[in-house]
Order: sequence, then C-alpha cells, then structure tokens
Amino acid sequence: MMKLTFFGTSHGAPEIGRFCSGTLLETDGVSYVIDCGAPVDALMLNRGKRFEDLRGVFITHMHEDHMGTLPAMVKEFGHYHPTAHAHFFLPEEAALDALRIWQNAMHDMWDETRVLFGISKPGVFFEDEHIRVTGIQTDHIPGYPTYAYAMELKAEGKHVLFTGDMRGDLKDFPTAAHTENWDVIVSELTHFHIEQHLETFLKCRTKTLIFNHKIEYNIEKMEDILPKLPFETIVACDGDTFIL
Ligand SMILES: [Zn+2]
Ligand SMILES: [Zn+2]
Repeated sequence: MMKLTFFGTSHGAPEIGRFCSGTLLETDGVSYVIDCGAPVDALMLNRGKRFEDLRGVFITHMHEDHMGTLPAMVKEFGHYHPTAHAHFFLPEEAALDALRIWQNAMHDMWDETRVLFGISKPGVFFEDEHIRVTGIQTDHIPGYPTYAYAMELKAEGKHVLFTGDMRGDLKDFPTAAHTENWDVIVSELTHFHIEQHLETFLKCRTKTLIFNHKIEYNIEKMEDILPKLPFETIVACDGDTFIL
C-alpha cells in the first residue's frame, strides 16, 4: 500500500492553515519526502512518523518554499536519531556546498555516512529495493542550466508523477504525463492560469490528478474546472492523505 501525505499545499508563501510544499510518500514500510518547504520534521513527529523509516529526501528545486526546512531535516539525523540514515538529493551542486556551510554555521553535527548527499539529474537518479526516482528537467528556473525537476516515482508497481514547479506557459509540462499511464499525477497549481491550460490537463493519462502548491486565483476557478476533467481530480489540503 502506498500512501501520500500532503504536509503543505500553499503556493510560494504560507497561508493561514497552509504550509509550503512537502509531501511524504510511504511504501513498503519505509518513507520518502518530496520537498521540504513545510516544517516536515515537526509534521512527521506530529503524525508519529519515524525518521528511522525515512530513506530519501528529494528536493525538486532550490526555491525556499520547497527547501526552507531542509537544514532542520538534516539536523534530525544528528544526535536525535543516531541510527537513522537517508539519502538527500539536491538539484544542484552549489546548493549542497551551501547546505554544508549552513549546517556548519549552525554548529550542527551530522554524519555523512548516515546523511547521504546526492545531486539529482535527468533520468534515474535514485533507486533502492523500494522505489525508483527519475528526474525530468523543467524550465521553472529561467536560464541555462536549469535546476528544477519534475519527478517520476515508481514503487509497488504504482507510477506517480510530481510536476514540481513549472513555467507560466506550461511549455515544460512533463510530456510523460501525456504518453505514459499514471496512477497519480501531482501537479502544482500556481504558475499558470488553469482555465488557459485545460487541454494540457485533459491529455493526462492518469487515474487521479492531485493539485497542490495552490493559489487563490486558481482555487476559486476549480468549481468550474473539476467537472471538466475526465478522471478523479482532487485539490489537496494540508494534512490530506491519499492511499493508492
Ligand atoms: Zn514553489
Ligand atoms: Zn519555485
């Protein structure tokens, strides 16, 4: 059984009752985190989730609303959870250098044999006995090279796509959403106007579409949009859990 818990569903800044991005994926007795914009460490504890079960933390891109609490997550692997170990994948080398400097500035002690840093890249960048993670570059951060990723996760025979943040014109919407079959596509809902891109979503080959990273000007249109989509479509709220 795979489970997705949305710890934060707000756009680039928190709102009342809404944290920024952070999602927990549980599968096969272990867990993975996609983005740390929400206070994922505290929210995991509130829900009785164990750091000892966490195997990977994957950051889609280095905007603060997706990685602001990353230092706190690394800190958990110091003396608080001395037997826990997890892979942390950042989207760019410079971010990893900066993170190490920041942890040092906080006088944090962490053990790089248990906090295993890596750099995500296009294609399969992480695989263990439970999950396979594939990076798909997007153009969310302008300029070259870009360091923003959609992520494809495969576990228990389930196929899940996180779009991450995209361009305002959605020209970088992952083509795999239209060419492969998905159990769930988790799409952001901020950097575009949903009514102008209905066609992009109509073409998705998925059983369920979940919107997160949501912003008011799109939320208020969803009453009209939802009946037009031919698959189950959900606008996630903070704390929502979905079982696949
Ligand atoms: Zn964002
Ligand atoms: Zn962003």
